[in-house]
Amino acid sequence: MIDRERIVEEFLGMVKVTSLSRKEGEFASYLSKRLAEMGLEVIIDEKSRKLTGSDTGNVIGKWRGNIAGIPPILFAAHMDTVVPGEDIRPVVRDGVIYSSGDTVLGGDDKSGIVAILEALQHIKEEGIPHGDIEVLFTVGEEIGLLGARYLDYTLLDAKTGYVLDCNGAPGTIVNRAPAQDKISAVIHGKAAHAGMNPEEGVSAIQVAARAINNMKLLRIDEETTANIGVINGGAATNIVCDRVELKGEARSLSDEKLALQTQHMHDCLRKACEDMGADLEIDLGREYSAYHIPENDMLIRMAKKAAEAAGLITRVVSSGGGSDTNYFNVKGIKAVNLGTGMNKVHTTEEEIKVEDLVNTAKLVAAIISERAEN
Ligand code: ZN
Ligand code: CA
Repeated sequence: MIDRERIVEEFLGMVKVTSLSRKEGEFASYLSKRLAEMGLEVIIDEKSRKLTGSDTGNVIGKWRGNIAGIPPILFAAHMDTVVPGEDIRPVVRDGVIYSSGDTVLGGDDKSGIVAILEALQHIKEEGIPHGDIEVLFTVGEEIGLLGARYLDYTLLDAKTGYVLDCNGAPGTIVNRAPAQDKISAVIHGKAAHAGMNPEEGVSAIQVAARAINNMKLLRIDEETTANIGVINGGAATNIVCDRVELKGEARSLSDEKLALQTQHMHDCLRKACEDMGADLEIDLGREYSAYHIPENDMLIRMAKKAAEAAGLITRVVSSGGGSDTNYFNVKGIKAVNLGTGMNKVHTTEEEIKVEDLVNTAKLVAAIISERAEN
């Protein structure tokens, strides 16, 4: 049985263990112990530590099937939580779990982790037939998908998987998410006294203004967005500013459209610098690629059937954000992202319904059964 009380207790215990990005070590130990207790082989992906800068590697658990001939399947979630996320004191009120108001709750993504653990526990207790199952708990998702980016993929056998890291009620299936480019630029102008000889200066602020003014930004089209999110520069009103720093991003569900948008932003910067006599230093690149799993894919059909078996309504949607799922798809693990019911994440009002924790666990268990039957 998916045990409502047990899942709540485990979830409350988990969120009390602080696991900020790059400081997931204590939580990784907690999870390693829980996985080992359930009979999984636990592997810590030590090699990734140097690259992610975390105090632990990603945590991998491998569970041998009790029936043979079923391809392995992966369930993944991330261990890290955003700030403010220390000393979380969860409160349960009328079937909903909140933080005490001064931190996030950490349901992003501990709602996914607890659902995976509860499903495994349930399957083990009931002796339900299952194939090989792999679980992966990553580090550093919130600071650039670092765990998924630097994971040693040779440690995993699964070629298909489900990530549990998405808002939306259980039954929500994200089959599509955008690629993202990051742009970081420095405009080098020329300093001069603003009152005595301004004609000798090149104002990096004016150059930046012209470049940005020429850019198509925010909502570009249905599939594409772009933003300049940070601008820094200037020291005093009597100095023609010689240095402005810009940071921006672009996202699109289409890799081609993204390339065009990023090129456009680059062109605007280059042209403004050329026209006004400034130098441009630019660093731009792909953060992660887009993915799109068609609705008739086995991965989605299986999730839909499982959701139905668990009494949930399915909704296949695309997302505007990146997740570990983007990397898994690049690295050869076909994956979709599933809603856990996490709500108002990255705020101190974050909450999750107990019912959604239970339903997500039911869904994971049903997917495992669905896989075993087909
Ligand atoms: Zn998350
Ligand atoms: Ca998040």
